[in-house]
Amino acid sequence: MAIKTAEPLQVRWNPEQPIADVTRMDEPAIPPELLEEIEELREKFGRELVLLGHHYQRDEVIRFADKRGDSLALSQFAAAEKDAKYVIFLGVHFMAETADMLTPPDVPVILPDHRAGCTMADMADIDDIEDAWEQLADICDTSEIVPVTYINSTADVKSFVGEHGGTICTSSNAHKIIRWALARGEKLFFFPDQHLGRNTCYDLDIPLAQMSVWDPEEPAGGHSPEKIRSSRILLWRGHCSVHQHFQPRHADIWRERIPGINIIVHPECSFEVVQKADYVGSTSHIIRTVSEAPPGTSWAVGTENHLVNRLGEDVSAEGKQVHSLAPYACLCSTMFRISPESLRDSLRALLDGKFRYRIRVDEETKHYANLALERMFEITC
Ligand code: SF4
Repeated sequence: MAIKTAEPLQVRWNPEQPIADVTRMDEPAIPPELLEEIEELREKFGRELVLLGHHYQRDEVIRFADKRGDSLALSQFAAAEKDAKYVIFLGVHFMAETADMLTPPDVPVILPDHRAGCTMADMADIDDIEDAWEQLADICDTSEIVPVTYINSTADVKSFVGEHGGTICTSSNAHKIIRWALARGEKLFFFPDQHLGRNTCYDLDIPLAQMSVWDPEEPAGGHSPEKIRSSRILLWRGHCSVHQHFQPRHADIWRERIPGINIIVHPECSFEVVQKADYVGSTSHIIRTVSEAPPGTSWAVGTENHLVNRLGEDVSAEGKQVHSLAPYACLCSTMFRISPESLRDSLRALLDGKFRYRIRVDEETKHYANLALERMFEITC
């Protein structure tokens, strides 16, 4: 069943509240004996094991990652690994699926907690998408619709776009991919993040009036046939539960508090927030922009707080101030399910020759999903 997009949260922020209290989360210290056990277990595998950690992962887990990155970079690391016999993914389910698609079949990809999903990916259910495609076929020519999915989607959805002549995008390459799609067909059907789709299309000079949100719970996505025919962009009704917390007024408050502050946000934020920002881009873009900024500059960052806090620590020696755009903890709670304990348990199991928990994509799904990924690499290379 599809999840309906929630309205933006209305959170009160007391402007008198000290900045340090609202942007920093204290996480539990890892017991030394647990740390030692994880390190000892990890050493037993040497180069046969690679641990990949996403930028949004919590501190006491990411410290064990051999490589850090965004979802695409991590998958590319997995694909490039020649010595690894095992991959442990310190991220969420769809990322582990992508790694499984890109690694040899005999390299198991392990996610230490199988409940570490992604609320955005779950909003685009493959049955709902197939149903939407059938409904569209009654209204217009689907051979003129190019389906594109954000990499934050299930393997089933990636397979769907691959089978229907479409491809995959990341937040780094969305402009290039959407330009490609619109050169190929009259319409774009974009899954699952309406915000990334809308923000990117608007940046490509497509007016908002040519975009419609497809609501999977409504017949014909909630539109008349005429409206669908006249829409150039169909945006699936999905969002990231983390990035929807940011509100336009947070930018106003920061500008009032710190004159000259730079606002940088991820394109999964709402259109209104993106319009208020000075800079917009992927996690890698955010890290690069703030890291390369002149010493002494101030930043309010609209993305997951683990990344924001680590970035702040990394650049503090240069006198840069980095704050979360939102005045409260805004972490990815599903990724947070990967704990030091679950990592230890997966390492213990691996030592016994067991996979806790192996993420596998079946061969048929993999075939079309890989086709979509190959298209993406061809377009962006
Ligand atoms: S931050 Fe949002 S899109 Fe990214 S894994 Fe978490 S819920 Fe999914």
